Amino acid sequence: MTAAASLEAMIDVHALRQQFPILAREVKGKPLVYFDNAATSQKPRLVIDALVNYYSQFNANIHRGIHSLAEEATAAYEATREAVRAFVNAASREEIVFTRGTTESINLVAYTWARQELKAGDEIIVSGMEHHSNIVPWQMLCAEKGTVLKVIPVTDNGELDMDAFRKLLSQRTKFVSVVQVSNALGTVNPVQQIIREAHAAGAKVLVDGAQSAVHLDIDVQALDADFFAFSSHKVYGPTGVGVLYGKKELLLAMPPFQGGGEMIKQVSFDGTTYADLPYKFEAGTPNIADTVAFKAAINFVNSIGKAAIRAHENDLLAYASERLKTIPGLRIIGQAKEKVSVISFVVDKVHPQDIGILLDNRGIAVRTGHHCAQPLMQRFGISGTTRASFALYNTREEIDALVSGLEKVIKMLL
Ligand code: PMP
Repeated sequence: MTAAASLEAMIDVHALRQQFPILAREVKGKPLVYFDNAATSQKPRLVIDALVNYYSQFNANIHRGIHSLAEEATAAYEATREAVRAFVNAASREEIVFTRGTTESINLVAYTWARQELKAGDEIIVSGMEHHSNIVPWQMLCAEKGTVLKVIPVTDNGELDMDAFRKLLSQRTKFVSVVQVSNALGTVNPVQQIIREAHAAGAKVLVDGAQSAVHLDIDVQALDADFFAFSSHKVYGPTGVGVLYGKKELLLAMPPFQGGGEMIKQVSFDGTTYADLPYKFEAGTPNIADTVAFKAAINFVNSIGKAAIRAHENDLLAYASERLKTIPGLRIIGQAKEKVSVISFVVDKVHPQDIGILLDNRGIAVRTGHHCAQPLMQRFGISGTTRASFALYNTREEIDALVSGLEKVIKMLL
């Protein structure tokens, strides 16, 4: 048995599926095949139970209360912060800021660090495979400050052109914001190398980990990332919770993001002082329930282990890639050497949306369209793709259902 096969054998998919209540349902009279995991993953019962438990046992506002419920809620909320710290191997829990999601985490950096540190003529580098949430905040900043956005080109394979990246780097480069795993192509980018080279040029780096946190081992210290952003809902956790990791010295020097309760030390009309890290960035009542339940998701992932998850998902990716190639007229967009379990494809003369609708009639959920990566679609000269993205609970049988569904759907459409 190869190492990969032995790890794969460690996942009992059929037992795991029992832990996800939604996977038992039917769609349009057919068993649900959920292949839209890059958009959001389904939630295990442990996470759903943690939400119910919070609201039925210790719902209270956190940090300021001295009554028992407030103390319990605060302890649970802060326990998630510690779980997240360990999940990404941050040095301290002060470096873990809770947000609404990856989008808000990136905006936080754009509105605080970048707004304070960057001036007209400074350059920001993003890549050609960014999600809109790692493009638009920087465009808004450029419009406001006169900073300049540079873009790392994407090769025909769907990889970053690293030589071009090196040519873009200069003493004008002050910030690099790059996705670790592309949501549209599945490409795993060499972020460690990008960070090393950006640092050598004197730039800070944000890693968009929205798609990587669920598949790859994340070690922000080994990466030496300045900022790392991801969302709970793509890691089997609830929606409405995100994480911004930032190096302590950077967070300390940054102005607050929003003003309000919780983020202050002392308020008077003569002046206000701000709270210590990380609370300076968490104004107002946060999303307590979902944050508390996010810990159950992290525990769930840890209990299986990323290596076993990856082995299983890599098997699905390899199997699906082989099977999809047998469909006439189907072209996979994104053939990077390093990929996670995301497959985007186009079919000659067939619109992705039609494929998506007809697959849904067969109970198969895929994503169609531009995947919030319109510049990437423009790069490939297409308006969109059909995307199947796999999670730890998906099976080869489901891929067989996708392939036979596709064959029938394409026949109907041509
Ligand atoms: N970046 C990437 C690569 C993503 O895939 C997503 C979500 N599709 C985001 C950022 C934004 O995440 P959220 O919607 O959770 O804020």
